[in-house]
Amino acid sequence: MSYKYAKNLGKNSSARSSYGYGSGIDGITVHHWGSTGQKHQNVVDWLRGYTGNRGSSAHYVVSDGLVTQIVEDSRASWHGGSNKANGTTIGIEMRPEMSDGDWETLVELCVSIEEKHGSMKYYGHKDWKATACPGDYYDRLGELVDAVNEYKKTGKIPDVTKGGNSTAGAGGSSKKYKTVDYGTTLGLYDKGAPVEEWQKGALGYSDEDADGYFGPQTEGDTEDFQEAHGLVADSLVGEKTWAAFKDGDEAPEEPETAKKSGGDAPKFPLRSGHYFGPKSWGGHSHSGYYNHRSDMREWQQQMQDRGWSLDVDGLYGRETNKITKQFQAEKGLKADGLIGPKTWAAAWTEPVT
Ligand SMILES: [Zn+2]
Repeated sequence: MSYKYAKNLGKNSSARSSYGYGSGIDGITVHHWGSTGQKHQNVVDWLRGYTGNRGSSAHYVVSDGLVTQIVEDSRASWHGGSNKANGTTIGIEMRPEMSDGDWETLVELCVSIEEKHGSMKYYGHKDWKATACPGDYYDRLGELVDAVNEYKKTGKIPDVTKGGNSTAGAGGSSKKYKTVDYGTTLGLYDKGAPVEEWQKGALGYSDEDADGYFGPQTEGDTEDFQEAHGLVADSLVGEKTWAAFKDGDEAPEEPETAKKSGGDAPKFPLRSGHYFGPKSWGGHSHSGYYNHRSDMREWQQQMQDRGWSLDVDGLYGRETNKITKQFQAEKGLKADGLIGPKTWAAAWTEPVT
């Protein structure tokens, strides 16, 4: 390897297992650090979380001939904007200028990561969430896969071809999405109206997030949906999985509660016996992290409209837990902090006091 390696660990990291995908590593997510002209060391300092930034990180910061590791591979860095990305991939922040030297160092680093952890899938940040990141690197992910494989075989980096024309695929973004119709089994790299409906209806994506592209994030959320509904968790939306979503849509959810309250709360969005609660509980607890995020957001919005001070982010966290308990106590409900049908409806039907 012809780059200089430094380790300079930061504080923005957490256990991989805390994202719900075990502790294995199976991919690399390429980022760029946005605006050109920034110094490598300043980016390192920022992402390490010691210069005011407490919110993001990466495993490596990379520029021509220089690799700084700020989070151990075995831990999760906060780079992906998605649980699966954070839990299962290694984040590399690249110099956006993308000189040949920047590129070669990236290839070499990826080779060394594959030597340690086995073959990787390659993603750009925008495979996980709506972002411009990783800029120009995105179109070259297929080329990256090829370059890493060739380096492993020959010990040499292939000539830089800018843009590449690879269709080789250890996965990642060289794949092309193909449009599918209703009635076909939906899976990774499908796109179109049924995917969008699936994302909105079954996975609870907001209009903005439901882009109709079945990418890795949708794949992970589909797996969660299947687990929650007792289906084979193969991330494919076939007849049974689609039917589980449609049933859920039409199943009457606790009509008794709704009638007695006399109000007009929106229908409780979860199946009977399920509730909004901590992410770590799994099973019947929905946190908004994996699905039903827009529903969680709807309830939070209603609570905010009632005067409670909380972030309307669609995620059940400590703040939502605390406010739910206070609200329940105030309304004479069991103050367990979990949002079931009664607590859900109370946000609309109980008088504001
Ligand atoms: Zn990024």
